[in-house]
Amino acid sequence: MRNLVWLKSDLRVSDNPALTASMASGETLAVFVLCPDQWQVHNVSAAKQSLVLRQLVSLRRDLAALNVPLLVVQGDSFQSLPRRLVDVSQKFGVKRIFWNKEYELNEKRCEQALSNLCQDALISVYGYDDSVLCAPGSIVKLDGSSYKVFSAFKRALLKDIFLKMRPMYPAPQPQYQFDLHSDIKFLSDEDILRIEGSLKLDQYYTINMHERWPAGEEYAHSQLEQFIQERSYEYDKRRDFPGEQGTSVLSPYLAIGAISTRQCLQSAVNENRGSLDEGQPGIVSWINELIWREFYRHILASDESLCRFKPFKPETDNLPWRHDQQQFELWKVGKTGYPIVDAAMRQLNETGWMHNRLRMVVSMFLTKHLFIDWRWGEWYFMSKLVDGDFASNNGGWQWSASTGVDAVPYFRIFNPTRQSIRFDPDGNFIRRFVPELRSLSSKHIHQPSNEQALALGYALPMVDHKEATGQTKLYFSQLNTSLVTKGSAIASA
Ligand code: FAD
Repeated sequence: MRNLVWLKSDLRVSDNPALTASMASGETLAVFVLCPDQWQVHNVSAAKQSLVLRQLVSLRRDLAALNVPLLVVQGDSFQSLPRRLVDVSQKFGVKRIFWNKEYELNEKRCEQALSNLCQDALISVYGYDDSVLCAPGSIVKLDGSSYKVFSAFKRALLKDIFLKMRPMYPAPQPQYQFDLHSDIKFLSDEDILRIEGSLKLDQYYTINMHERWPAGEEYAHSQLEQFIQERSYEYDKRRDFPGEQGTSVLSPYLAIGAISTRQCLQSAVNENRGSLDEGQPGIVSWINELIWREFYRHILASDESLCRFKPFKPETDNLPWRHDQQQFELWKVGKTGYPIVDAAMRQLNETGWMHNRLRMVVSMFLTKHLFIDWRWGEWYFMSKLVDGDFASNNGGWQWSASTGVDAVPYFRIFNPTRQSIRFDPDGNFIRRFVPELRSLSSKHIHQPSNEQALALGYALPMVDHKEATGQTKLYFSQLNTSLVTKGSAIASA
């Protein structure tokens, strides 16, 4: 029996449930459909596109070692993708299609459309939960509703994880050679790399993205091992300091599925002598972050409205979010006059990645100091991030904007200068990304005086912290009493 495994954001051979199931039950052909229009609709960054394309070349090699051919075919549009898959299946006499599920609305619809077409074409379909530790819907309250509080979700997950998480799968054994004779046109490695080259990464980022973000399942695992052996023990102490390499920086590889969350968890638990929530504080703290990822995925799967630009708390849509293009532009390019915010935005723009502490700082600055619509920030992040992931990005933005599930209370607003002093005490991170301020001492770099800023050609603070956040708190506090009129302007200091 011939099977087809449809690869999407699961670009690896080990611990890949769909690939494993397909190869266990028949001769397997792997297919990836390239849909540039889908990337455009989701604002996928050039950095992430590049990583995906280079990963496909690497994956083709890994699959070839299993005698599984990988056909990368050009799709006309995301809408026509199911038809394209059925056509390919029919050309090769495929009777079963396997895939790992995605939980975003468009992606779910696409899977449903494929299932419908397959029914007519007498092709069986099999979907697997892959990018989560436990299937969405399996960690729920007694009444069947989803957890809205992270700590409760985490408790429930940890209680049942060994029952509900399926085992890990090693890379499958090679199959017999698959006969690829057909007139289907597919992209060679050269074609894929040509498309990758046309992304013109150097027009968007200043660093060499190929060097900074190498592709490959093997590379992702080497990064995981290095982190676990060398940095995981100190993670709880170093994870908040953007100037240090205290975190794993695995997010780009998790986002494209070059490595799975289960593999990360397993590696952490092994190092922690089998424990998930006791033992080495650094490892336990890292596991906690993997669970945040899981939490946001379960929330996304349970609430379609998140994919329709809706806040998790509907009432917060009545806040008079501002849409000030000029101020947004200053935030985007890192010219707010707040050094830590500017350094963070320039890190994003130059490297395609931003440290988690700084993602919180800049998202809170945009939403709570400038009171600019969180969706603008979410959208911009996607256009730049190499690890852009809808569930985590949406979750993170709504956390900072206090519109989301288990979000920060609206009155707890980070003071960027204090964050800077605390987490970049000597100012070295700022110096790396804001060269104008390099000459300033550690004392002055977090908040240059107006004279210093003018002399160094650096921006003056675009808003006053106290004034701007006071206004934001007022809007939120008025929300329940319905005093806020949609569209009214906020005074910017
Ligand atoms: P580590 O600290 O090593 O953590 C390990 C893994 O756990 C990460 O790779 C990630 O998969 C997961 N993780 C860690 N922190 C979080 C978190 N707060 N929420 C969800 N998962 C987490 N993460 C993305 O992967 N893609 C995004 O598009 C994204 N957008 C974000 C936007 C905002 C506004 C905020 C506040 C956070 C966002 N995050 C996003 C979460 C987090 O910032 C990144 O996952 C983290 O910085 C990645 O670095 P790391 O791999 O070194 O993480």
